[in-house]
Amino acid sequence: MLRLENDLSQLGAEATAFLGKRHGLHIGGKTKPTKDSYALTDPTSGAVIGHAAEATTDDIDTAVKAARAALSGPWARMRPNERELCMLRLADLVEKHETELSQIETVCSGRLLGNTRGVDVGYSAHFLRYMAGWSTKIEGQTMRLSIPYLPEGDFSGFTFREPIGVVAAIVPWNVALGIAVWKIAPALAAGCSIVLKPAPQTPLSTLRFAELALEAGIPEGVLNIVTSSNAKIGAALVNHPDVNMVTFTGSTAVGRQIAMDAASGLKRCSLELGGKSPFLLFADAPLERAIPDAAWAIFSNHGQNCCAGSRLYVHESIYEEVLDGVVQIAKSIRLGSPLDASSQMGPVVTRSQQERIQNFIAAGQAEGARLAYGAAAVDHPGYYVSPTVLADVTPDMSPVREEIFGPVLVAASFKTDEEALALANNSEYGLGASVWTNDFERVNRMTRGLEAGSVWVNVHNALDVALPFGGWKNSGLGADLSETAVLAHTKVKASVHRHF
Ligand code: NAD
Repeated sequence: MLRLENDLSQLGAEATAFLGKRHGLHIGGKTKPTKDSYALTDPTSGAVIGHAAEATTDDIDTAVKAARAALSGPWARMRPNERELCMLRLADLVEKHETELSQIETVCSGRLLGNTRGVDVGYSAHFLRYMAGWSTKIEGQTMRLSIPYLPEGDFSGFTFREPIGVVAAIVPWNVALGIAVWKIAPALAAGCSIVLKPAPQTPLSTLRFAELALEAGIPEGVLNIVTSSNAKIGAALVNHPDVNMVTFTGSTAVGRQIAMDAASGLKRCSLELGGKSPFLLFADAPLERAIPDAAWAIFSNHGQNCCAGSRLYVHESIYEEVLDGVVQIAKSIRLGSPLDASSQMGPVVTRSQQERIQNFIAAGQAEGARLAYGAAAVDHPGYYVSPTVLADVTPDMSPVREEIFGPVLVAASFKTDEEALALANNSEYGLGASVWTNDFERVNRMTRGLEAGSVWVNVHNALDVALPFGGWKNSGLGADLSETAVLAHTKVKASVHRHF
């Protein structure tokens, strides 16, 4: 077994210095100290690795006021191409600080360094550049009008898209900086200002990102970060009367509460919630590709992935072969310190997540699932969970119905295409789904029939910045990424001009 605890002496000087800092909130371009702070722990050991500022409801008010003021300051006077240039500079700075940002993210979350480097840094820089381009491409319409009760007039009509205003963004820990940038970049492209609350466990990468945003020329007050260990602070942000839009990624339970709070203030709301995504494997699929992809669709990021392929449905003729292949991969996965390049899985984020995942594994077996693979609990203070495969499951079992958000795959076989589709759609969630087959007609039928915001064919969890990513059913409302996300941060103004 590899070393499980992080060796923090491996960190660079910048990450070490940032972790050790006495952090405040980032409001109006300044660091605002707070009276209280809370401890951040290293998931590989449970040791305290730093402290984050504990915001109060007064701090939320100050942050929202700073964001509101920014909407009548230099940010509002910038031309769209100046916003674009700021975002392009920010993308360059994110890449320049790749080591620092990815190391900070890894030690707070337990996610592999290769993953935080690729997703939170690399994908974020790519996405910022894509969204920067939208700053100059937000368009309205022009038309000649025929207003029935003004028959004599000759009128032209125009629509304008203006920034929606102050955006409250609330994000989870599983891809902390990456998802924060999914929220921040379209809001910047549209000319909005933002107050973002990171998850309690992973506040530091976003605080560092906000400093880089200032360095890139994004004016003070446009991006504000409030940190807290208290869920009431997130609720205070959502409920602040001067917030115009709420954008949230997290669990369905919290999302539902946020939707109700936003509705009472008539605020626009975008929700990216939980998932229980099916991986449908048909007998004609190329198994040499499909088996490793089925394994990594669930085990990558330790299963802490909203669109993880957590339900594997396989045609009965290849079920045992596929199951055996996935189990062999699960057995071979190297658990270890996420700073170590040879580790393939690190710990999950917290002790409570570790316990919750283990409870689901036990419940599944008690409800009749077969444990095809799962090593005993790792005897270590870190929050490690073995990759686990529960076979021969039925739709009523709790690990099949509920999002586990850990490295636990449930698997079952099907006989017909109709049965495969019914199994896939038998879920309260509808985030993603993948279909593995080379049969063109089947691809068409499945793509039409699957109840999910994203359908992938012969690939799983393929998210491109140019395609909208949003959930159906209890997986969300609205979408992140793409033009769709930019337009969601605008409000439409219609204007009528009379010609004499
Ligand atoms: P969570 O819902 O517990 O918390 C998310 C955020 O909401 C945190 O910052 C938390 O402090 C805050 N919060 C909690 N209660 C609040 C309230 N009443 N009002 C406002 N804010 C509140 O989720 P988590 O455990 O941090 O993350 C895991 C969940 O996120 C999983 O369900 C996962 O599927 C989901 N997720 C979804 C996507 C997606 O794009 N669909 C992506 C990643 C994660």
